[in-house]
Amino acid sequence: MSRPKLTPMLEQYFEIKRQVPDAILFYRLGDFYEMFFEDAEVAAPLLDLVLTARHKGQENEAPMCGVPYHSADGYVAKLIKHGMRVAICEQVEDPAAAKGLVRREIVRIVTPGTATESSIVERESCYLLALVPSPAGLPAPHGIGAAYLDVSTGDFFVTTYGGIDDARLADDVARFAPREAIFPRDGNGVARIEQLGVAATPVEPSMFEARGAQEYLTKHFGTQSLRGFGLEDDDARIDAAGGALRYATASHKRTLNHVQTLRVDNDADFLQLDAATLGNLEVIESRDTARPKATLWSVVNATRSAMGARTLRRWLIRPLKSAEGIFARHDAVEELTRTRTLLEQMTPRLSSIADLERLASRITLRSASPREVLTLGESLRSVGALAETMRSLQGPLWRQLREALNPLNDTIDLIDRTLNDAPPPNIRDGNAIRIGIDGELDGLRAIAHDSKSILLQIEARERERTGITSLKIRFNSVFGYYIEVSKSNLGKVPNDYIRKQTLVGAERYITPDLKVLEEKIVGAEEKANAIELRLYDQLLGAIARVSPAILATARACGDVDALASFATIAVRNRYVRATLSNDAEICVEDGRHPVIEQLQSERFIPNATEIRRDQNGIQVITGPNMGGKSTYLRQVALMVLLNQAGSFVPAGKATLGIFDRIFTRVGASDQLARGESTFMVEMHETANILNNATDRSLIILDEVGRGTATFDGLSLAWAIIEFLHDNAERSGITLFATHYHEVTDLAKTRPRVANYNVAVKEWNDQIIFLRKVVPGAADKSYGIQVAKLAGIPRSIIDRAREILNTLERKERAMVEETKSRTPTKQMSLFDSREQDVLDALRSLDVDGLTPIAALNELARLREKLNG
Ligand code: ADP
Ligand code: MG
Repeated sequence: MSRPKLTPMLEQYFEIKRQVPDAILFYRLGDFYEMFFEDAEVAAPLLDLVLTARHKGQENEAPMCGVPYHSADGYVAKLIKHGMRVAICEQVEDPAAAKGLVRREIVRIVTPGTATESSIVERESCYLLALVPSPAGLPAPHGIGAAYLDVSTGDFFVTTYGGIDDARLADDVARFAPREAIFPRDGNGVARIEQLGVAATPVEPSMFEARGAQEYLTKHFGTQSLRGFGLEDDDARIDAAGGALRYATASHKRTLNHVQTLRVDNDADFLQLDAATLGNLEVIESRDTARPKATLWSVVNATRSAMGARTLRRWLIRPLKSAEGIFARHDAVEELTRTRTLLEQMTPRLSSIADLERLASRITLRSASPREVLTLGESLRSVGALAETMRSLQGPLWRQLREALNPLNDTIDLIDRTLNDAPPPNIRDGNAIRIGIDGELDGLRAIAHDSKSILLQIEARERERTGITSLKIRFNSVFGYYIEVSKSNLGKVPNDYIRKQTLVGAERYITPDLKVLEEKIVGAEEKANAIELRLYDQLLGAIARVSPAILATARACGDVDALASFATIAVRNRYVRATLSNDAEICVEDGRHPVIEQLQSERFIPNATEIRRDQNGIQVITGPNMGGKSTYLRQVALMVLLNQAGSFVPAGKATLGIFDRIFTRVGASDQLARGESTFMVEMHETANILNNATDRSLIILDEVGRGTATFDGLSLAWAIIEFLHDNAERSGITLFATHYHEVTDLAKTRPRVANYNVAVKEWNDQIIFLRKVVPGAADKSYGIQVAKLAGIPRSIIDRAREILNTLERKERAMVEETKSRTPTKQMSLFDSREQDVLDALRSLDVDGLTPIAALNELARLREKLNG
C-alpha cells in the first residue's frame, strides 16, 4: 500500500509516535489532546468518544478522536485501568511565536506502575515492581532481585525471591498489589508474572545493568555506596532498584527527588501471612461478592487520613513479631482508650490532614496545582494542632511520634505569603501569586488592570478632540484595540487615524497611541504570567527541598492515625488488651470473631480457647455442618493477627503467645466459589505448610482432605495430624476442623492431640446450634438434621433416617466383632473391608450427589464388599 502524502503536522505526529510505539499518544492540539489512527480506534470505544477523521474522504484520511486538555486526567486514568500506557505530548513553544509548525515533545509517559495522578492512584498504594534474575553464579536464595517503588508516595524497598515460582513472590504481590511489573526483555517469565495478576512490561535489559544501577542509585541518593542501605555490590536487588528508579524517572521525565531512601525489606521481622492466608481470613478482601465489606479491614478501619489508611493496611498484612514492638503499640492504644476526650479531639484533626505523601510527591514532580499547595499549608497547620493535642500523652511511642510531627511553620508561612487565598486551579490561569511578592509583577498587573481606565481616558480625549460623541474604543482578536466611527461622522476623522476595516455603518481605525498601549497591555499580561510561573516554580522548589521533613511527618501521621483507629475500635467494639506470653499458647476467654460479630443479626456467642503447644497443641474440632467450626478457627487466627498488628482483641480476656507465621488452608469444596476447587491446589498448599511451619507457627486447617474421595481424605487428614504431632519442630499450634470424626481417635494415642466439638442440642428431632466449642469429640455428624433444616423433603429425611439406623446397627455389631478379633490394634478402623464401606456411607455427602453419581457410588460400594 502506498503511503499517502502526509501534512507536516501528521509527519510530526508519526515522528513522535515512533518514540512510544506501545503507548497511546495524547497529541496536544490547541485545547485538545488528539489521538490518531490505531490509537484513536483503540481508545475511542474505551473512552466513549466519537471516532471522527482528519482530512475526511481524502487520500490521507486520519481516524481521530480527542479529549479536552483540562479534563484529560480522567481519560488517562480510564486507559490506565484498561492496562494501557499513555504518552502525553505537549506544545513546547508558544503557538503565537512559532514559525511554522509548533514544536511538540513527550513530557510524560503514564504507566500503571508510575502514576501519581490522583484520579488513578486514589487511596491505596501504587507500586511499580522490578524483577531481575541474579547474575549467574550467585548462591541461592538470590534467585531474583526485586524492587518496589511507589512514585506517588516515595516508598521504595528491595527484597529477594528464590525464583519466579517462589510462593513468597505471590504472597508479596497479594500484599503490595503492584500495578505493573518490569523485567529484562530477554528474561522469560512474562506468562508467569501475568498469572500473578500484574500488568507485565518487558523493558530493555540495559535498564537493569548492574554497574549502571549502582552508579545511578548512589548519584540519586548522593551517597558513596549503597552500604548504608544494607546493600553490598553484586546484588540483584541493586539492579532491580536501579531499573525501577530509571523507569519511573523516564516516565516522569524528571528526577524523583522525593524518593529519598531505599529499604531492605526483611521478612524475618514480621509475622508472615501468605497469600492464601490473607485470602482465607478475608483480611483485606472478602470472598463473598455479595458482602464486600465482610473483611477484617472494613471492621477495624477507623482511620481518618489517607496516610492512616495506608499504615493500618500495612500493619494488618504485616503484623509484628517482636514483643517490644507489639507491646509499645498496645501501650499507646491503651493510653488513648483511657483518655477518650483526647481521642475525640484527635480525630477531627486527623481528618483535616490531606494526603501529605501524595502532595509532597506532586510538588517535587512540579505537577501540583496552586490549590494543592494551599491544601498542603492547611494540612501542615492541622499537623501542628494535632501535635498540640497529643501533648498530654505520656507513653514513649506517643512522645516519639509527637516529636516526629513537624508542622514546618516556615513552609506554612511561605505558602501563605506567596499564594492568594483562592488561587485558580491551574497556575496558567494567572492571579495565583499574592500582591507584594514581586514588584515587577505588581507593576505589570497594574498596567493590565489600569488599561481599562487608560482606554476610557483615550476614548474621552478622542471624543473631545474630534467632536465625535459616538466614538468608541473596542477590541477584537484580529487587530487588537481600534476606534470605531459611524458613517455619519466620517468627515470629522483626523489625519492620524489609520483605517483598518470598513463595515456597513461604520469604519474602524487604529492610532499609534492605541497600538503602544495595546502592546503594553498584552505584553504585560504575558510577562506577568511568565513571572507567576517562575515564582510558582520557586515556591514548589522551596517546598520540595523540605520534602524529607514532610514525608517523615506524613509517616508519623499515619502511625498516629492507625493507633487512634485501634483505640476507637477497641472502645466501640469492646476489645481488650492481650497479655503477651513467651510461650506458644492461645488462652482466651469470651473470644469473638471480629467480623461476624459485627455483620450478622444473630447474637454472636463468645467462645473460650485454651491451647498450649506442649500440652494440647493440636485441636481437632468436629461437629455438624453449620455448627461454627470455620468461624471458630478464623476467630482464633484473627485474634493472633490483630494482637501482633498492635491492636486490642475481640475477647473478654486473652493471653497470647507471639507467632512467626499463620497458615490457613481450607478444604477444596469450601472454595468452590473461587473456581479452583481442585484437590491439587489444596494439597499443594498443605505441602507448603508441612515444609515451612515452625514450632512458632499457627496452623489452621479447615476440612483439609475434603476435596477428594472419602477414604483418601480421611487418610490424609489422619496422616497430616500424625505428622504435625510427631514432628514437633513443624507444629506450633494447630487447629484442625474436620467432619471425619474418625480422626478423633488419634487423641487416644497422641498426647498433644485434643478433641473439641461445636455443641448442638437435639430437641424434638430438631437440631439447635449452641455455637459453643466444648471438649470432646462430636458423637455424630447430624447430617440428616442439617438436611432437614435446609428444607429437604420430609419423605427423603425419613428414608435417610431409616437407612442410617440400619447402618448404625450393623456398624455396632461390626465394631464389636473387630474389637474381639484384634483387641490391641490401634487403627482397627481401616482393617475391615466392610468397615470401609460403612465409613464411606456414613460420610457420604448425600445432598451433593446427583442420582447418577449415587447409583455409581452404590455399585462401587457393592463391588468393594464383594471384594
Ligand atoms: P461450620 O464450619 O461448622 O460448617 P461455620 O463456621 O461456617 O460452620 O458457621 C456457620 C454460621 O454460623 C456462620 O456463618 C455464622 O453465621 C454462624 N456462627 C458461627 N459461629 C457463631 C457464634 N459463635 N455465634 C453466633 N453465630 C455463629
Ligand atoms: Mg466450615
